[in-house]
Order: sequence, then structure tokens, then C-alpha cells
Amino acid sequence: MTQPASMHPGLALRRRIALALRRSRHCQDSGQHQSGVQAAEEALLLCELPQHRTQWQQAMVQLALHQFRMGHFADAVRSGLEVAATLDFAADAAQRAEVLCVVAIACNEMGLMQDGLKYALEALAAARTSNDTAQMINALNRAGVCTYGALGDREQGEQLLRQAAEQARLADLPVLLFAARNNLGTLYSSEGRKQLKLGKQAEARHLLQSALQHYHDAWQSVAHAGNRHQWAMLQTNLAEAYVDLGEFDHARAALAELRQALAGSDFHSLQRNADLIEATLLQRSGRVAEAVAALQQMLALPGNMIEFDMRHFAQEELYRLYKESGQFELALAQLEAIRHSEHEQNEQRSSTQGWAIRKELEITSVQLAAERERLQAERERLRAAQLEAEKVVTEARMSELEQAVLIDPLTGVGNRRCLDQQGPARLAALGQQLHGMAVVVVDLDHFKSINDRFGHAVGDEVLKKVSQIMVLRTRGSDLTVRFGGEEFVLLLMEQSLESALACCERLRLAILDYSWHEVHPLLHVTASFGVHWCHAPQPWAHALRQADLALYQAKRYGRNRLQLASLD
Ligand code: GH3
Ligand code: MG
Ligand code: MG
Repeated sequence: MTQPASMHPGLALRRRIALALRRSRHCQDSGQHQSGVQAAEEALLLCELPQHRTQWQQAMVQLALHQFRMGHFADAVRSGLEVAATLDFAADAAQRAEVLCVVAIACNEMGLMQDGLKYALEALAAARTSNDTAQMINALNRAGVCTYGALGDREQGEQLLRQAAEQARLADLPVLLFAARNNLGTLYSSEGRKQLKLGKQAEARHLLQSALQHYHDAWQSVAHAGNRHQWAMLQTNLAEAYVDLGEFDHARAALAELRQALAGSDFHSLQRNADLIEATLLQRSGRVAEAVAALQQMLALPGNMIEFDMRHFAQEELYRLYKESGQFELALAQLEAIRHSEHEQNEQRSSTQGWAIRKELEITSVQLAAERERLQAERERLRAAQLEAEKVVTEARMSELEQAVLIDPLTGVGNRRCLDQQGPARLAALGQQLHGMAVVVVDLDHFKSINDRFGHAVGDEVLKKVSQIMVLRTRGSDLTVRFGGEEFVLLLMEQSLESALACCERLRLAILDYSWHEVHPLLHVTASFGVHWCHAPQPWAHALRQADLALYQAKRYGRNRLQLASLD
């Protein structure tokens, strides 16, 4: 394309960057990752000025993705973390989530399971901050895979993946739905393979059949929308599961599909996977010499075409085949090669880890203080938005957690923090939706001596029972909280002072008449009530103080009674 002669040089540069980025993105879709890397690198070279920062970040994210797809996992981790360090925690949260997902899965592929899990959880947090449903699902997916990878915890991993699948289904995002179901399949496949190794055929078959079912579901979800990489991944997984199940014809069919999907692509890691499956198939069908040849051919590939994990796996297979066929010298040579590549792999892992740690320290010192502040502001904004839209499951979870913070663990009623929220809010609403409200402070009489005479456990039981009595005998719209120790506060939403007092009297009698002897034969419990009636908005601290003063009076006048605060 020729530029008009009059075009501003800055504009021309921006346009060239945009074109390179577009090419890079296009290569993602077509699987041409080699060219994709070139396009991304071209964009990076052009991004020389500070105002190109955003494009530089986009190019780096692209680069990490291409590197990952090509199976260059260590490079993907570095590019990913490099750009993650420059992304804003709040403003760029969605992009951070995306790139941290790539880092997580690349770590996983390198065998750095713990690091994978760590980055997956970071991605999850970033996705939450971004409020971007697709990133949220993507991160749940990664977290599921990495949890299983790092902890071997099938249940936990499966739960996260099922959540991802459910949300993807609700949000109608077929590509993500595919990923979640496919990952569920690989989780079951891995479990099946474990059982096979233990010689538990029946269990293994069962798990592998479930894996096939998940793959089938995955396929259903992308029948119309899948991309080439996903299709190839699915065929890889199917072929592996069929080999494990001993269904070789099916395995061959899947392998043929896979080869077709891979033709001309740069999915090196999937290509090597296909080679391995092929070799296993040959060997299981008794064509050992061909299997050996296939493995040797794989191992002869240049380093950038085959990752450590794959090479290691191929070497192990070759070693086994040599040994089983009595070719001990070759087996020994293979064993030495394995040792050598294990050493190399360890070096690469530690160098990636070391690099990642240094990178993180860098980020921490430069960014953290500023980012925290911004994050806080963003969180507050988000929380306000969340209150409006409590649709997404994760948000519901969050609010559940928040609820837990507001509850007294002993009695299950609200705690002081809950009152701090509810009291002022309800008072402020008086006269609008509400007619009147009684603020009542309830204190158990001589509770110290109950503890002293019958023990702390009995004291605790009394607190629980009194809480129950108050909750059961007030309305759902009223509020009971444990204010501290043996002191409770009730907010009674009533039409009149008389009805509020009647309610308190019922409560007083219910406490007095409760069958306390069932808790301890000699136990008696009474409570004193300080009542303050509010019919108009007023400062919360004032209302509470009035009720408290009334309680003090009730105690002075002999306990086990109600006392109304003097009207102000
Ligand atoms: P008064 O009638 O004047 O209110 O006398 P009191 O004994 O109830 O009041 P005081 O404030 O002297 O004693 C309160 C007691 O409540 C002291 C403390 O040990 C006990 N207490 C506070 N929290 C708990 C708890 O969680 N469990 C139990 N069993 N006792 C508690
Ligand atoms: Mg007391
Ligand atoms: Mg007290």
C-alpha cells in the first residue's frame, strides 16, 4: 500500500504498527504462528515512542500467544510476564487476565505446576477486576487445569472447570465452552491413565469413557464456531483416549483428522503430540521397528520444533522399546540422552523461574504502591456496580463471603459490623418507606454469675438460645444482632411505640419462661431491655446511646424489665 505524500510521518508510523498488529492477529486465527511472531516483532520494533505504549503492549500479548502455540513455552512465559508488568491493574485488567492465562498454561506445560497455579489465580483476580465475562471464564478454565496439575486435586479442578463451562453456556460463548469441556475431558483422561498404570482396568475404562463423553460434548459446542487450534487439540485428545482404551481404529481415524488439521500449521507442540501418538499406535499394533523409526525421526528434529517435555517422552518410549527388544546398548545410550535432556530441562526451568522472580520484584518495587491506590478506587467503583447487577455467579459468591463477615459465629445472628451498616441505613430511611423503628438494647441479667456457677459452655448455650428466641419471635424485616458479650441490639420495624413495646414484652417473657432447666437444672435466665423509639431520621449514635441509657435504668430499677428512653 502506498502512503499519500502528504501524510504526517507520525500518522504513517501508527498506521504501519496497526497493520503489523492486524497481520499478527490474522495469523492467530490461521495458525501461522511463525509469521505471527514476525508480524508481532515488526510491530514491536516500530513502537519506539512513549505514545506507542498501548500498541507495544498489544504486540507483546500477541507475541506471547504465538510463542505459546508454537510450543515455545519458556519464551511465552517471558514475553507474557514482561508485558504483564507494564499493564495497569485496573485499567488494563482484562488484558492482564488474558496474558496471565497464557503464562499460567505455559508454565503448566513446562512442568512448573506451582507457578502455573499462581499465575492462573492472578489471572482470575485480574479477570474479576475487569468484570469481563469472557476473561473470567478463560481464567476459571486455566485455574481448573492448573489446580489439577499442581495439586492433583480432581474434585477441585473439576469444580472450577464445570463453573467455567456453565458460565460459558449461559453467556453463549462456544469457544470457551469448548475449552472447558475439552479440559474436563483431559482431566478424566489423565485420571484414567493413572488407573491404567496401576493396572486397574475397569476404573480406567470408566474414566476414559467419561473423557470421551466430555470430548463429545466439547465437539458439540464448537461444531459451528470452532477454530483450527481447538479442532486439532480435540482430535489429539480423542486419539490419545482411544489409544488408551485400545480402540485402535478409532485412534487412527482421529489421528488422520489431526494430521489434516495440522497440515501447514505452526502448532509444533500438537504436531509432536501427533508423532508420539502415531509411534504408540505403531508399537501397540506390533509394528515395533516402525515405532522406533518414528521416534528417532522425532528426536532428530531441530530444538525449536520439539519441546523438552515431548523430547523427554519420546526418549523414554525409545528407551523402553530398546530394552524390551533386548538392544541394551542402544537402551543405555538412550538413558544417557535422557539424563542429558533432563539436566537441560531443569536448567531451563530454573532460569525461567529465576527470571520470573526478578521480574516480579521489579514490578513490586516500581508499581505496587501506585497500583494499589488505583486498584482500591477501582474496587470501590466495581463494588457499587456489583450491587446493581448481582447476576454473575462469582459476584453472588463474593457477597456470600461478605455476609459471613457480618455474622456472629457463636449465635449466627448479625454482629456489630452488621449493625454499623444496618442501623444508620434504616434510620436514614425513616419517613420514606418506614413508619418507625425501635432501637432496643437487650442485656442478660447477672450473666457473669451464670458463667461462674455453671461454666462457660452453659453461658454459650444461653447466648445461642436467647438469640434463637429473639430471631424466631421477631419479623423477618426486623434485625437481631449480638452487639458484644451478652448484649444484643434489636431493630424493630413497627407502626407504633406500643406495638414495639408489646414485642419487647413478649421477648422478655419468652426468655423468662424458656425451659432453661433442660440446659441446666438450676439455670434461670432473664434479660433487661432499653427501648428508644425513632419516628424521624436522627444520628445513629444518638439513637443507640438513648437505648443504652434506658437499659442502664432498667438495670437500676431491678432488671428483668423494659425501660423506655426519655423522649427527646
Ligand atoms: P448485669 O446484670 O449488670 O448485666 O450483670 P452481668 O453479669 O450480666 O454483666 P457483666 O458485664 O459483669 O458480665 C458479662 C459477662 O459476660 C462477663 C463475661 O465473662 C461474659 N461473656 C462475654 N462474652 C461471653 C461469651 O461469648 N460466652 C460466655 N459464656 N460468656 C461471655
Ligand atoms: Mg449483663
Ligand atoms: Mg453487659
